[in-house]
Amino acid sequence: MKKVIMSLVSLSLFAGLAVGCTSDQEKAAKSKESKDSSEEVTSGASANGYTDISELKDNYDIVIVGAGGAGMTAALQAKEAGMNPVILEKMPVAGGNTIKSSSGMNASETKFQKEEGITDSNDKFFEETLKGGKGTNDQELLRFFVDHSADAIDWLDTKGIELSNLTITGGMSEKRTHRPADGSAIGGYLVDGLVRNVKEESIPLFVNADVTELTEKDDQVNGVKVKLEDGKTKEIKADAVIVTTGGFGANKEMLEEYDPKLKDYVTTNQEGTTGDGIKMIEKLGGATVDMKEIQIHPTVQQDKSFLIGEVVRGEGAILASQEGTRFVNEMDTRDKVSAAITALPEKSAYLVFDQGVRERATAIDFYDEQGFVVEGNTIEELAKKIDMPEAALKETVEQWNKDVQAKADAQFGRETGMDNDLSTGPYYAIKIAPGIHHTMGGVKINTKTEVLKEDGTAIKGLYAAGEVTGGLHGANRIGGNAVADIIIFGRQAGTEAATFASEQK
Ligand SMILES: Cc1cc2nc3c(=O)[nH]c(=O)nc-3n(C[C@H](O)[C@H](O)[C@H](O)COP(=O)(O)OP(=O)(O)OC[C@H]3O[C@@H](n4cnc5c(N)ncnc54)[C@H](O)[C@@H]3O)c2cc1C
Repeated sequence: MKKVIMSLVSLSLFAGLAVGCTSDQEKAAKSKESKDSSEEVTSGASANGYTDISELKDNYDIVIVGAGGAGMTAALQAKEAGMNPVILEKMPVAGGNTIKSSSGMNASETKFQKEEGITDSNDKFFEETLKGGKGTNDQELLRFFVDHSADAIDWLDTKGIELSNLTITGGMSEKRTHRPADGSAIGGYLVDGLVRNVKEESIPLFVNADVTELTEKDDQVNGVKVKLEDGKTKEIKADAVIVTTGGFGANKEMLEEYDPKLKDYVTTNQEGTTGDGIKMIEKLGGATVDMKEIQIHPTVQQDKSFLIGEVVRGEGAILASQEGTRFVNEMDTRDKVSAAITALPEKSAYLVFDQGVRERATAIDFYDEQGFVVEGNTIEELAKKIDMPEAALKETVEQWNKDVQAKADAQFGRETGMDNDLSTGPYYAIKIAPGIHHTMGGVKINTKTEVLKEDGTAIKGLYAAGEVTGGLHGANRIGGNAVADIIIFGRQAGTEAATFASEQK
C-alpha cells in the first residue's frame, strides 16, 4: 500500500467526508492536528470510502480528471444528463484546493441576496470583476459566469448545499459572497456535500489514480492513461474527457518559470496542485492564456502556509503594521493589499479585530486552534503581546471606530467591511504576509468549456473547467470568484461533454 506524506488536516477532513464525519470527530481531529501538523499516513482507497480499484472499468461515457469542486460538479451534471461518468483523482483523498476554500462563493441576483434586501445586478458583478481583473478578463467567459451565478447557487441548494449567509470580499461593492448558514468556511462544507451527492448518484470516484496522458484517435480525444497505486498504467476509453485538475500553485518549477520573483514565497495550495492538466493539454496542442498571472494572497500565516480568509477583513478586521498603524485600504484587491504589505520594512503585518469579528467569521476559531491567534483583554494588552507601540495601536483602533461611525475612511478610502466597529473586547491579532494562492492562467476554453487550440478551433472530445483554465479572472482574481467558477463551468462542462458523448453513440 502506497505511503503518502500529507497534512493531517486534509486527511482527517477527507477521510471524515468519505465516512460521514461528525462534528465531534472533526473537533478531535483538529485538536490532534494542532499538536502535530504533518504525519505519515497510510492511504487505502476503499478504507476511506472511495470506489475500490477492482471496480475500475476499461470504458466510460465520460472520464473526469481530478476530484475537486469542478470535477465533482461536472460529474453530477453529466450523470443528470444520463451519462455514465467516472472521476479519477491522483491524491488519496478528494477535494483538491476546493476543500481549503474559506470565504465563500460569489453570485449576483440570488434568492439569498433578495431575502436580505440586497439589490445587486449581474452587470455590476461583471463590471467589478472586470475592474478587479484590470480589464483583461475574457469577457465572453465573464458574461456567461455572472449570468449563470444565481443558477449555480440554486443548483447547489437542490443538492442540499445551502449557501445562505452573505459576506463581502475585496473589490466588490455588494455582499455577494455566499457561505454556509453558520458563517463557517465554505470548502469543507462544499466538498462534503459534493462527495455525498457523488456517492448518492453512484458515480465511481477512484483515488490514487494519477492521470498521466490524454489519448487521441483521429484528432479526437478518446480517453486517458492512468497510473494506479500498484505502479501499473491502465488505458481507459471514453467518448469525452473533462479535465478539472486545478492550477499549478504547488508546482515550484512552473511558478518559477512563469514568475521567477515568486521563488521564495510559501503556497497555500494543496500538494496535488501541480499543473498536470495544463501540461497534458499543451501536449495535444491546446492553447494557454495568462500563464504569468499568479495571485499572491495578502493574508497568509507563514509558518504553516495557512490562508487567513478574506472574510476576516470582510467582517471588519483592519491591517496594522508593526508600528501599530493602518497602511492600506484592507478591502482593496489582493494584488494591491499584497503590494502594500510587501512594501513595509518587515514585509508582514497583523490582522487586528475584536470579539464581534470573531463571532461573525467562525473560521477564526479554527485559526485559534492552530495557534495563530494572539488575544488581549484590551487593545493595550494585545499590542504588548505583539510588540507594537500600545498608544499607536489604541489610537489606530479609536480612529477606525470613528471612521466606521462616519462611514468614511478618510485615510485610505475603504468603503466595505465597515458594518461594525472594533469595540467589543477581547481583541485579537494574527500575523500574516503574502503567499502564493491562485494561478489565474491556464488552458483556453470557450463558453462551452471546449478546450481551444491556438487557431481558436476546439480539440474534439476535450473539455476543461475550474482553475486548470485561464481567462475568466484576467490579471487578478476577486475573492469568491474561483468557487463560483468551478460550479458554473463545472456544470457547463458536464452538460456539454454529455451532449458530445451522446452524439458519439
Ligand atoms: C487556502 C485556499 C482558500 C481559498 N478560498 C477561496 C474562497 O473562499 N473562495 C473562492 O472563490 N476561491 C477560493 N480559493 C480558490 C479555490 O478554492 C480554487 O481555485 C478552486 O477550488 C479550484 O477548484 P478546482 O476544482 O478547479 O481544482 P481543485 O479543487 O484543486 O481540484 C483539482 C483536483 O485534481 C487533482 N489532480 C491534479 N492532477 C491530477 C492528475 N494528473 N490525475 C488525477 N487527478 C489530478 C488534484 O489532486 C485535485 O484534487 C481558495 C484556495 C485556497 C488554496
